[in-house]
Amino acid sequence: LVLNTSHELRTPLTAMKGFLETMEYSVSNENAEYLQTVLRNTDRMINIVNDLLTLSELDHSDKIEKEKIVTADFVVNIRNIFSAKIKESIKLEFVTNDVQYFVAERFSIEQVFINLIDNALKYTDSGKVSITFENEKDTLKITFTDTGIGIPNKHLEEIFERFFVADKSRTKKFGGTGLGLSIVKHIVKLHDGTINVESEIGKGTSFIITLPNDIE
Ligand code: ADP
Repeated sequence: LVLNTSHELRTPLTAMKGFLETMEYSVSNENAEYLQTVLRNTDRMINIVNDLLTLSELDHSDKIEKEKIVTADFVVNIRNIFSAKIKESIKLEFVTNDVQYFVAERFSIEQVFINLIDNALKYTDSGKVSITFENEKDTLKITFTDTGIGIPNKHLEEIFERFFVADKSRTKKFGGTGLGLSIVKHIVKLHDGTINVESEIGKGTSFIITLPNDIE
């Protein structure tokens, strides 16, 4: 039902967004602000529908197709995705250490990186977002660290729940849905991995992922 509904909603929403964008050029000053609000909320709905589609696709898949991924290529690709989004005040850094390859399902693991880096950039005003790869015996550890606003201790467990939002004002501003981390958690689980979070208010947040490193 969620899958079908999300599909059905996407078409009219996309059409609405298209017409609203056309109106941007002809609307009176007085109404411009209202139009922006409608546009922003349309974007929010589109984001929610897209996230729901991803979640329900994940719900229906119990097996994933893992492949060997070249870390350097993977990192270049992720960096390109964020090249337009990155602010001057934030450095995006990848430390791959001796991890030349890893084993994962390419599309979904990309989604994990996109969601976690997107959040790190969203909740950080200045400083650094760094992603570190480490081989630890038979697991791969990937740490996403930012120098952002942090997450209150009392929310650390809830942030992985569907639709949970800790910082309402920021999430609203950036069109967040509260679904990003539940998607991440779901994908990590499908990989038989683990995810943990450590955070300090005003200092920053680290998300630590481990994935079984079954390279033959
Ligand atoms: P959203 O679309 O709201 O970002 P997520 O599921 O991705 O939804 O995240 C849930 C909540 O966790 C966010 O609303 C935010 O309050 C908090 N959060 C996630 N990542 C970070 C981070 N790197 N720094 C601070 N807060 C974060």
